[in-house]
Amino acid sequence: MALYGAPIWAGTLRTRSAVLLRRPQRAIALRVARAYRDNSHAAAGLLAGSPPWDLEAKVQSAVYWRVLAVRREENWPAPQEVRKWREEAREVLYEKWSERLEIPGASRDLVAALLTGHGCFGWYLCERVGREPTTVCHHCDGRAVDTAQHTREICPAWAEPRAALAAAVGGDLSLPALIRRMISSEEAWLAVASFSVTVLTQKETAERSREDDANSLPQRRRRPGRRRRAFAARIMPP
Ligand SMILES: [Zn+2]
Repeated sequence: MALYGAPIWAGTLRTRSAVLLRRPQRAIALRVARAYRDNSHAAAGLLAGSPPWDLEAKVQSAVYWRVLAVRREENWPAPQEVRKWREEAREVLYEKWSERLEIPGASRDLVAALLTGHGCFGWYLCERVGREPTTVCHHCDGRAVDTAQHTREICPAWAEPRAALAAAVGGDLSLPALIRRMISSEEAWLAVASFSVTVLTQKETAERSREDDANSLPQRRRRPGRRRRAFAARIMPP
């Protein structure tokens, strides 16, 4: 497979070999998505839901070298520790991937979140980050799992911005359809950016106030104060 031995060569990837590595992935991604040949690599990967292989290789490499460092001291790292390292490396991957999408301006992170699902969604906050106790959506009936897809296509709380989005990109709000439209039309880009900013800033505000509520519950009083945590967050990487 293309990623065989990734830990060894990922650190020495030059631009040219990264480009070579992209070619087969792009072809596969394009076939999977039945997309068009003029799609950019990053968009093609997104269509198929798979990050670029040179970034995947860096994830494998980062984990491999950390495991090896522990092994040198004749220990095996705990599986949950390896999982944590992998997740940290994948966070970096998603940051780099969204940079490659070349989304202009400050809305970039929010657009990337809406497309990749890595952002202020109950599923992601609960399953991936462990910051929320449940995956359900707090903006509708409380039964649906809150994902990027739920937010884009289903959640009734966002009916109004969704109608504006649908008017600009056509009725189909599925990920492949959205990206196909974003590639071919600047109007579609702007509509997706506008939807992302409108909806995700509201979701982020709601998440912050849930967090504040949880912190003010009596049983949580023994946690360090907000100021101390804010300080710790500044001096330590998340
Ligand atoms: Zn909802």
